[in-house]
Amino acid sequence: MSRFFSKTHDNLTPYTPGEQPRDRKYIKLNTNESPFAPSPKVVEAIQSKANLLNLYSDPTALSLKQAIANRYGVDEDMVTVSNGSDEILAFCFMAFCDGKTPMAYFDVTYGFYKVYAELFNIKSEVVALKEDFTADFDGLKKTQGNVIIANPNAQTGIFESLEDIESLVRAKADRVVIVDEAYCDFGGKSCIELVKKYDNLILVSTFSKSRNLAGGRIGYAIANGKLVCDLETVKFSFNPYNLGTLPIEAGVEAMKDVAYFEQCTKKVVEAREYTKKELISLGFEVLNSSANFLLARTDKMQGKNLYLALKEKGILVRYLGDERIKDFIRITIGSAQEMQAFIAAVKEIL
Ligand SMILES: *Cc1c(COP(=O)(O)O)cnc(C)c1O
Repeated sequence: MSRFFSKTHDNLTPYTPGEQPRDRKYIKLNTNESPFAPSPKVVEAIQSKANLLNLYSDPTALSLKQAIANRYGVDEDMVTVSNGSDEILAFCFMAFCDGKTPMAYFDVTYGFYKVYAELFNIKSEVVALKEDFTADFDGLKKTQGNVIIANPNAQTGIFESLEDIESLVRAKADRVVIVDEAYCDFGGKSCIELVKKYDNLILVSTFSKSRNLAGGRIGYAIANGKLVCDLETVKFSFNPYNLGTLPIEAGVEAMKDVAYFEQCTKKVVEAREYTKKELISLGFEVLNSSANFLLARTDKMQGKNLYLALKEKGILVRYLGDERIKDFIRITIGSAQEMQAFIAAVKEIL
């Protein structure tokens, strides 16, 4: 730390992304990316727009908002887009929390919520998941602040019902509820219909997982027009051109290519169910995931050691190490072939 670093940040612990090693070729099951390339239509569209890069991108990203609005049957003024959904999440903290309004979230969830609360000097109200890692909605309802919940939840993959989400949104009528649906397309149900009904609900999602575009950095939110307006006020005060011309183009084509999207997500779900079955037959405890990853543990080997042994064999999974899940590894679901190689490696190690 330099002697110039602001005192407001001297306790900040930044988010730790999963490894992106370049030293050798790994089967990469550690950051919940898609194993499949983007839609060929995306690649073609990017190439055809590359000669426009001398000009600024469209600060309203209108074509992308329209593509998202059309797909989900909402008005385009209910949509805002961002440089990855992490950026929208940051905008939510900036727009709706302050010294008097904290943010509530679960103890086991996406690590960025805590980081943003610290970065923006917002108080966190951390509610523990139940013993079986399902959501404690009563606990969330008792908090004072806005709420952010990943559904399916990050790290566990567990999906909570829309009835529970709706009841939370009603209980928090004077607060904002943000539902982070990064993993929704792998078996969850989206709260999109609730967004049309409630003026305090924000759906946040990303092109990084189910739309094969983690490197494209494209996220979006769908909410009541007034909430979207607030988010855009923050965006235009921070980085008006937050999406480049190529990501905008990529996003439009990815949103339109429904057949490719369905084909890829279906393969991931099939590979997840195969992997889960195999792990259970090897004696693992595997949480019930509706996402593109599995959280699993075995009595035969400590999570960290299993992670290291797999890495040795050229397979990268994620060891998160947080107290409540310190025995577990998180396995991103890759292609069928990759998951067969993973299972074979686990068998050899055990
Ligand atoms: C991956 C992930 C994000 C971030 O996605 P980007 O669009 O790549 O920034 C947000 N929330 C959750 C729960 C995630 O797992």
